[in-house]
Amino acid sequence: MSQPIVIVGSGFAAWQLVRTLRRQQSAAPITVITATSGDDYNKPDLSHVFTRKQQATDLIKASGAQLSAELDVRLMPHTRVEEINPNGNYLIANGERIDYQKLVLATGAKTFIPPMQGNAKDQLITLNSLEEYQQGQEQLANARSVLVIGAGMIGTEIAMDLASTGRKVILANREESILPGLLPEFISSRLLGSMITQNVQFELGAEVTEVNAKDSGFDVKLSNNNQHSVDAVICAAGIVPNTQLARSAGLQVNRGIVVNQQMQTSHSDIYALGDCAEIDGRVMPFLQAIIHSTNTLAKTLAGESAKLALPAMMIKLKTPLLPIQFGGNTSHSKATWKVDATAEGMLAQAFDDNDQLMGFVATESMMPKAFPLLRQLPALI
Ligand SMILES: Cc1cc2nc3c(=O)[nH]c(=O)nc-3n(C[C@H](O)[C@H](O)[C@H](O)COP(=O)(O)OP(=O)(O)OC[C@H]3O[C@@H](n4cnc5c(N)ncnc54)[C@H](O)[C@@H]3O)c2cc1C
Repeated sequence: MSQPIVIVGSGFAAWQLVRTLRRQQSAAPITVITATSGDDYNKPDLSHVFTRKQQATDLIKASGAQLSAELDVRLMPHTRVEEINPNGNYLIANGERIDYQKLVLATGAKTFIPPMQGNAKDQLITLNSLEEYQQGQEQLANARSVLVIGAGMIGTEIAMDLASTGRKVILANREESILPGLLPEFISSRLLGSMITQNVQFELGAEVTEVNAKDSGFDVKLSNNNQHSVDAVICAAGIVPNTQLARSAGLQVNRGIVVNQQMQTSHSDIYALGDCAEIDGRVMPFLQAIIHSTNTLAKTLAGESAKLALPAMMIKLKTPLLPIQFGGNTSHSKATWKVDATAEGMLAQAFDDNDQLMGFVATESMMPKAFPLLRQLPALI
């Protein structure tokens, strides 16, 4: 029997690839090796577990064992891949040698933890996986006050969700606005305003410098000398692709594992997919980008010629109090904005020097106008 396609990881990218391969009738032997149980869940649901009163187990759609039987896959759960030998076409996991024909790295990313002091700096809760939520869920269920570090998409969504349950929430961000790099301040301030009505307290332009445990809860010190006493601290300060395996195997790594438009790394038998991959100089940690990349990789693995094409993508913020959709380039400093704002919603369109649409943001009642604008945007790749 030929050697299997081996996939490292069991997140969205990995299971999406297995499903796509089986859907296209591939009978290739597949082995999935994962540090976790391999259970399938929808990671974006972690943004609203508090209002939905969900435990980690409520999010599981299918167990790893179920998927392994259904998709005819050899699953090696709770197994960490330690080393890859690219020229020998094998890897080492739990001390065992596993040969592969093709290897797919779908190792995801981890939460970036900013440097800080204090005896509890290692006790921050992160919510970048089901297991991380499982570890922190009891503490969060009992917490009456939470400080969230980072006002990017994930931090902002989680802060709104926590505040909707009546908890006291402080959202601290190094930059002076929320969603920096994603939306200009004249738009993000609309969301900030609605979060203030939820009693979210903001610490903008402030870094967390120290976290110390006390008898019950934590003392958090900020660079602006403010101090907060809270029951839990969540860190959502961005993500760092998991590139260690690839790097030590000598593959080309930049911010993520560098792949070409076939999702192939610098070694011809090794591919990368999902949050760990860097495509055309960009890490794109979004499900839609992963679906497009997976379709390309499944064809490539089946021996067909395929090249990744990425259309402009819509991003939806899961902030129910003030829903926002946006697409294209919405943070270019030289964009000229055309804004249509009413009390019910805002539509903002960004144009370049040639009067071409670069990006748009639609909130609340203006959201039906988003899709026609998305179609006017140039493809990403
Ligand atoms: C709270 C939250 C909300 C989000 N909301 C949205 C949204 O609304 N829309 C959207 O498009 N995207 C959203 N995202 C992003 C999206 O969920 C991710 O881009 C996607 O789930 C990443 O999937 P992945 O398979 O690449 O990585 P992961 O799910 O991180 O999977 C990585 C896997 O690799 C395994 N692994 C790593 N190293 C090893 C090793 N050495 N050996 C064995 N196994 C290993 C891990 O155990 C894990 O199984 C959200 C993310 C979060 C955290």
